[in-house]
Amino acid sequence: MRAIVYHGPKDIRLEDVPEPVLQTPEDAIVRVTAASICGSDLHVLHGLMPQMNEGAIIGHEFVGVVEAVGGAVNGFKPGERVVGPAAIWCGTCRACRAGLLSACENGAIFGNGPLFGGLDGAQADYVRVPYAGVTLHHIPDGLSDERVLFAGDILPTAYSAVAGLAPGSRGARPGDTVVIFGAGPVGLCAVASARVFDPARVIVVDMEEYRLQMASRLGADLVVDASKEDVRKLVKEATDGWGADYVVEAVGKQETLNNAVAISAPGGVVSVVGVFQQPVSINAPRMLSKNTTITIGLGDLGRIQELIDLIAAGRLDLTPLITHRLPFADVITAYDIFEKRTDGAIKIVLTP
Ligand code: NAD
Ligand code: ZN
Ligand code: ZN
Repeated sequence: MRAIVYHGPKDIRLEDVPEPVLQTPEDAIVRVTAASICGSDLHVLHGLMPQMNEGAIIGHEFVGVVEAVGGAVNGFKPGERVVGPAAIWCGTCRACRAGLLSACENGAIFGNGPLFGGLDGAQADYVRVPYAGVTLHHIPDGLSDERVLFAGDILPTAYSAVAGLAPGSRGARPGDTVVIFGAGPVGLCAVASARVFDPARVIVVDMEEYRLQMASRLGADLVVDASKEDVRKLVKEATDGWGADYVVEAVGKQETLNNAVAISAPGGVVSVVGVFQQPVSINAPRMLSKNTTITIGLGDLGRIQELIDLIAAGRLDLTPLITHRLPFADVITAYDIFEKRTDGAIKIVLTP
């Protein structure tokens, strides 16, 4: 089969490799019908993923058709269309029982090397999916691949950031002013997710005009260009001096974290999914006087079914994010477009 294989920093190639086989009774083999490139694939591409091994297949956003299932996989059979998760979980360990699937003691991320479980990725014709009975989800009839393609990775990240990152934590509520820092794929999915919670207004902050335009298209009431405008002042004005009830940080910079804390209203929440490249500081004195809650974490893949249901009901549509569609054969070009943000690139779909 063909797969996108890591050979070293800035060296990925489309190659012929052996097809994956069932390794445990809980595995499934999925024939990939669409895969997309995620921002974290760029970290892998640049050799920033510690221990990433030469020969590993990359990619972790995919949908496909079940090709084969092990004897212990319940609920799935060959021929069924499925959404794949970015990472696997077992469903039975302490972390899984506590609802923290991202901390699963038997977990692994597709295509991120041995540090994250050594599981081959999904930018390939076929992928092996462990714990398939819990980690795969059916695609309802009538929904295209593109409608559900993001439901296994960036959408659960963004939706969890809005709905409450930790099990039981407060999410955005009706009437909230929601501010989202970052209008990349994650921030834009957060904009669409925020609309589900009936907020008073959604304000989006970025520095790229075309991304802010996309934010407006997905439901932002006000967009702020941080390279030209003062977000603290604008949020204050928009809320009659109260501030933002719910803030999502989807950038991963000290500056945006500082602004997120500064604009939050009394009793507000700052929900951080941006990944910081080094430790950052938090303005604790400022939070003290406002009883700010800050949550930081990974998206909850336990929400995939909820998200497929919202998409099927027409309440979430992320297809506007797809700016480019390319065949596997053009994968090097695809990564280049994604990285350089050529032609207003946001999400790129690869098809076999
Ligand atoms: P992205 O790089 O496409 O988006 C980041 C956006 O932030 C860009 O549009 C950029 O223009 C904007 N930006 C940069 N500096 C800014 C500033 N000072 N003020 C306002 N906007 C600014 O990335 P993405 O794929 O959308 O991911 C967003 C973040 O989420 C990244 O840090 C990524 O690593 C992280 N992430 C986290 C998880 C998780 O589970 N926690 C999962 C996926 C991605
Ligand atoms: Zn990802
Ligand atoms: Zn587990």
